Amino acid sequence: MHFPTSSLVLSVVLALPVFCVQAAAAALSKEEAQIVAFADAQSGKFAADLESAVQIDSSTENLPGVRQMAEFFLPKLTALGFECRYVEQPPSTHRAGHLVAVRRGTHGKRLLLIGHLDTVLPGGNWRREGTAVHGSGVADIKGGDLILIHALQALDSIKALEGTQLTVIFSGDEESAGTPLEVSRKELRDAAARSDVALAYESAVGMTGTVARRGSIAWELEAQGPTGHSSGIFSAPVGSGAVFETARILGSFYEELRKLDGVTVNPAMIAGGREADLSKTGGTLSGKANIIAQRVMVRGDLRTVSAEQLADAQAKMQEIVSRHLPRTSATLKFEEGYPAMSPTPENYALLAQLNQVSLDLGHGEITAFDPRGRGAGDIAFVSPPLAGLDGLGLGGTGEHSIAEAADLADAPNLIKRSALLIYRLTR
Ligand SMILES: [Zn+2]
Repeated sequence: MHFPTSSLVLSVVLALPVFCVQAAAAALSKEEAQIVAFADAQSGKFAADLESAVQIDSSTENLPGVRQMAEFFLPKLTALGFECRYVEQPPSTHRAGHLVAVRRGTHGKRLLLIGHLDTVLPGGNWRREGTAVHGSGVADIKGGDLILIHALQALDSIKALEGTQLTVIFSGDEESAGTPLEVSRKELRDAAARSDVALAYESAVGMTGTVARRGSIAWELEAQGPTGHSSGIFSAPVGSGAVFETARILGSFYEELRKLDGVTVNPAMIAGGREADLSKTGGTLSGKANIIAQRVMVRGDLRTVSAEQLADAQAKMQEIVSRHLPRTSATLKFEEGYPAMSPTPENYALLAQLNQVSLDLGHGEITAFDPRGRGAGDIAFVSPPLAGLDGLGLGGTGEHSIAEAADLADAPNLIKRSALLIYRLTR
């Protein structure tokens, strides 16, 4: 009696995937099914391309390496009908430059497709075990750059790129942008002025899309007070000292900024004493236990989800600084920062389109990634104003570390999803 029952269960189980495939196939147009078939047929080429890309050492500071990375991608984009140029950066920025590729047309939405050439750590350290691959940039972002290029190749296989307006920008300094940002992000912003939608290929996080990324800005706090014998602290002539003033300010940052959802303030380094100084990466101080601190310096960053929230948080911080303990003074300065990609309704609409593509392919649901978990990225320079979606690249682990790894098995689905999203946006 067991036999017929298990046979029934087995046939239901077997029938289910077949049904899903048919449902997925039915949701795709004839052209979309051809795009998917091409991507499947080409999937073996992805690993070889990624290996070649990762073998090029293109850390941000390695200018010849970053240029070599551009030379690797350039012929691939030229073959897809893009006009490509390499945009040098002024020598004063110590940055290599960007690869800009344009295809002109009038079909559907005009897309800005964003990747980058540089990595945080030096490359050339490719290693593969089965489908697991290791090396600088496997996920951030050479894997992502190649997800985009393979998606474009799948579209080109049925001539679906004809008549579309696409701009690909692979910047040479995403991981450490050249300053001033006005100069280093000019190409990106100019391209945004000719586009409707921005798609970015930073690493995918599971079945999510990125509709928001927090902006980040560095700040420096300097507190001063009269120095003197420690026994005089708290007295009217000497006041509270620079260290107590700093403690007051940082304590208030902690109590008051922590209440704002999406905001973080991180005091990263502090130096105080009779003398104190900080650079961007370290500092010096001197003093004695019986001398009142005259000077304290603190460096840190502030992260927010929108320009409005940044302005609010900065105003709050300045207001806290201005309260002052007796006989002390303090100033807070902000540096040039990365803007936030705000979670706009337009970004959610793009995510809904990606979700529909994923459902139609039978890949399952895609949800929004929590912006608090994501650092700043190039897409934030253009979205807003453009509708934007990030996290379309190859997922990974250990980005920005020597343990960076990715799984090649994820690539085929990501390529198909991107190809169909671009296809539908450009009809
Ligand atoms: Zn990146």
